[in-house]
Amino acid sequence: MKENCNKYEILTNFGSEEELLAHIEECEICRAEHEKIAAVTKLIQEAKPYYLKQKQNFQKLKVACVMFLTLFSGVSAGVLNYNYKIIDTLSYYDGITIEDMGFPTDEYGFIMVD
Ligand SMILES: [Zn+2]
Repeated sequence: MKENCNKYEILTNFGSEEELLAHIEECEICRAEHEKIAAVTKLIQEAKPYYLKQKQNFQKLKVACVMFLTLFSGVSAGVLNYNYKIIDTLSYYDGITIEDMGFPTDEYGFIMVD
């Protein structure tokens, strides 16, 4: 028995299925390799539905996030557009104006510079 055989890789890539199966019949190393790959393939086939389901759930989550953000930003923009007082409070903090701090201001509340 040889220590190593690279025919499995060559035959899977370049040979026909008959050649591969014939070689597997007579070569112990390649038979072991073939069984390993078959086991991995089987595992992948078993895991595939779970993976796809997870992927689908992730897609649903993404859609939900986009919908939530769209709704939230729409509502916030609406609230802010129609409630100027809220914008003033949020942006300028109504309580303290430049005028309150003792600076000379113009009619818009900006500091007057001579
Ligand atoms: Zn072989």
